[in-house]
Amino acid sequence: MPNSLTPREILETLVAFPTVSRDSNLALVDWVEGYLADFGVTAHRVYDQTGRKAAIYAHIGPQVEGGIILSGHTDVVPVDGQEWDTDPFAVTERDGRLYGRGTCDMKGFNALALAMVPYALSLDLKRPLQIALSYDEEIGCVGAPHMIADMVDRLPKAAIALIGEPTNMQVVTGQKGSVGWQVHVRGHEVHSSMMHEGVSAILEGAHLLSWVNDTNDRIRAQTPSVLAAPFDPPFSTAHTGTITGGTAHNITAKDCRFGIDVRLVPGEDAASYEASLRARVAQVEARMKAIHPDAGITLAPQFDVPPLAPEHNGRAEQIMRQATGDNGTHAVSYGTEAGQFQNAGYSAVICGPGDIAQAHQPNEYIEPAQFTRGEQVLRTVVDMLTVSP
Ligand SMILES: [Zn+2]
Repeated sequence: MPNSLTPREILETLVAFPTVSRDSNLALVDWVEGYLADFGVTAHRVYDQTGRKAAIYAHIGPQVEGGIILSGHTDVVPVDGQEWDTDPFAVTERDGRLYGRGTCDMKGFNALALAMVPYALSLDLKRPLQIALSYDEEIGCVGAPHMIADMVDRLPKAAIALIGEPTNMQVVTGQKGSVGWQVHVRGHEVHSSMMHEGVSAILEGAHLLSWVNDTNDRIRAQTPSVLAAPFDPPFSTAHTGTITGGTAHNITAKDCRFGIDVRLVPGEDAASYEASLRARVAQVEARMKAIHPDAGITLAPQFDVPPLAPEHNGRAEQIMRQATGDNGTHAVSYGTEAGQFQNAGYSAVICGPGDIAQAHQPNEYIEPAQFTRGEQVLRTVVDMLTVSP
């Protein structure tokens, strides 16, 4: 067997690949594949449509069901426009912190997961360890579903998926989902003194923004559900973050573009929000077309990340509470791939080293203490695989 790299050395290697979501991650995937092959572990790739990116997953141990998946994403957010004091694509230790893009979100966890491979191979595993590294998580969790489907097809089904997003090693059992659309309202330009003959994309778009406000009013008038109670706030929220449109104060706007997204508490269905929004779009569009047939509205789905619903006596929660000693109730409102694993039939929790407050920031870092704590916890988790279920 080859000499094992330390978790820190693996982290340094992973951070050095600038795997920003818009760029290829194949150099990193090649390296991981080689690393695994050195231990005799065969990896599987699942490419995206362009062939420029791939997820990579592997199975270590007996060919039986009931194992544990360590799940991470290989992509990182861009550093454009951010003021960094160090090279973002190198790990720099300074003031007792490890700086670098992805050290926290989430190459730190990926490094620990890969470091567990030789450790797992040194044990007499009764149940398998699976490693799953996706792509395109940061642009709406669009890479993981293909990878998960492939794993379900080709591997003995694991019982548990541990999603190692930064939680300071707290056991997070619930996560809000999010669904988003890009809206393009196409109006008809006339001088605004004759606006009855034109269609203002901005004023018609305002009727869809009213849907956002109406939706929030309707939600807040309801009593929060039991599933929503652990979240802050304990209800779903609809939002528009950006809007552009129009050219002059005296021209009815030809174009208006904005995004609409809804953060969903578990138990709610993205499809019902989409149906409600589409009904409003149809209403507004009919009136626009009555004035000018070329006017209209395009609603383009952007992302749809399912929530992670807290499980009743969930196995993943039990295992991670045992491994960490954390018995608190934690729920988060940022998106992860946990709900996608849960929807595929895995018991899932989110638990990983580092603080989400450092994610996506300039001078992103992880505290070495968190990194070490993560390693201890993962060793404990792998140790559990030496016992039959
Ligand atoms: Zn992440």
